Amino acid sequence: MGLPEYIETRLFINGEFVGSSDGKTFDITNPATLKHVAKVHEASEQDTDRAVASAKAAFPSWSALSPAQRAPYFKKLATLIRENNDELAVLEASSMGKPVGAFFDGFAAAGKFDHYAETGHTVQGTTSVQTPGFLNLTLRQPYGVVAAIIPWNAPLLFLAGKVAPALIVGNTVVVKSSEKAPLTSAKLATLVQKAGFPPGVFNIITGFGNVSGSILSHHMDVRALSFTGSGRTGRIIQAAAAKSNLKAVYLELGGKSPAVIFDDADLEKAAKDTGYSVQSNSGQVCMMNSRIYVQDTVFDRYIELFKENLISNVHVGDPLDKGINHGPQADEIQHKIVLRYLDMGKQSGDLVLGGSAPSDREGYYIHPTVFTNTPEGAQIMKEEVFGPVVNVNIFKTEEEVLAKANDTEYGLYAAVYTRDISRALRFAKGLEAGTVGVNCTSPTTGVNDTPFGGYKSSGTGREGEPMYSLNNFLETKSVIIKL
Ligand code: NAD
Repeated sequence: MGLPEYIETRLFINGEFVGSSDGKTFDITNPATLKHVAKVHEASEQDTDRAVASAKAAFPSWSALSPAQRAPYFKKLATLIRENNDELAVLEASSMGKPVGAFFDGFAAAGKFDHYAETGHTVQGTTSVQTPGFLNLTLRQPYGVVAAIIPWNAPLLFLAGKVAPALIVGNTVVVKSSEKAPLTSAKLATLVQKAGFPPGVFNIITGFGNVSGSILSHHMDVRALSFTGSGRTGRIIQAAAAKSNLKAVYLELGGKSPAVIFDDADLEKAAKDTGYSVQSNSGQVCMMNSRIYVQDTVFDRYIELFKENLISNVHVGDPLDKGINHGPQADEIQHKIVLRYLDMGKQSGDLVLGGSAPSDREGYYIHPTVFTNTPEGAQIMKEEVFGPVVNVNIFKTEEEVLAKANDTEYGLYAAVYTRDISRALRFAKGLEAGTVGVNCTSPTTGVNDTPFGGYKSSGTGREGEPMYSLNNFLETKSVIIKL
């Protein structure tokens, strides 16, 4: 599979494609081949302001429509995304290295637009006659302009998960994609234009955090902001909201997710699932199980199965090749960060697999890496690596492992493997995580029937399930009527 002849790299503002106002561009390099892919327009302060202004101008007429009147644009867009899935896969592979064979983002994003087209009408207010002499109503109303700032690891999926619920209830949006993976968002903009969304309703800009991201976070006309990315940036955004207009901020941040494997678990399944979790998207997944705890009596068997699984199921190579499931890290910066953690890991624990960059590849590849016996307090046990690196430690009792699993500032995801249903439920209740997988580590971010989000420093708010997602983008007004 190869790159399309024309790659869209401009900003999509008020229904039109425009170059950046100051002519600035930035380069996208293929992380597998180190070849230049595209020059992308970088939104300036003026461009970002213009995108917000056009969203603000489009708000009165868009918010006046019903969800049923908005839904056909969503349905058309979902169809176009599916039709363009292969091209989207190639663009993602060429900019941040996700293998085309593992690209589920297009269909998942289309599914989100379909899903919210069908659920937008479910928003409800309340009525009350509890106060004598009064009838009290609540009205749920859109905020106005909503900004979405998205990361690079699954850009289309996160974009759709934020924008679809915001738009269907009547907000207008400005999306800022990540500077590491802007090509699928720019391609999506061409599909938004084809789907016929009215100008200004759905703006997509490309650029960096320190200009366009920061302008959006501080902007007085942006009334809600949904962010997925690192905790460091999430804190900066929340501070910007506090300093400006106290916009509603929803943060989906990083993780250091534990998987706990008890001695009665299906070890083969646990090894397969946790192996997939380490290797999927080259470990660049927020909910990846990066700390695995295995009960002492099955530890050796699990390690054997886990290593076997990684060795036989990981196919490293060019992400444009359909048979490959393990591509490079997204760029040189991510590669350097992971290499630094590999050094740290070797100093604190025992290396049992991987531990280096393949010497026969020029791209930003890292071998899936497994450490054991790493002290709980080691830096690599506390910080998110965001690469294919995992620490596997031993435990004896349920009480001990629950304390270890929860001994982290993160709380995004956790998994428990056991055949004992009481223990599974007791443990799920005790884990400090927004999502707990029982006998599974399957990703839930593409799923629409359950909320997703973090405890503790992994974020604020929930996305995914309509009751949560739609409500994120609605104000509540009480109307008090004297009878
Ligand atoms: P990042 O925080 O570096 O960047 C995310 C986005 O924020 C980018 O678009 C970037 O340009 C923008 N940004 C950077 N500085 C900014 C600023 N000062 N103001 C406003 N915007 C700014 O994160 P990343 O490297 O793109 O993504 C990886 C991180 O995202 C990991 O920590 C990962 O765990 C997390 N993540 C979380 C989830 C989740 O659902 N909880 C999902 C995916 C990724």
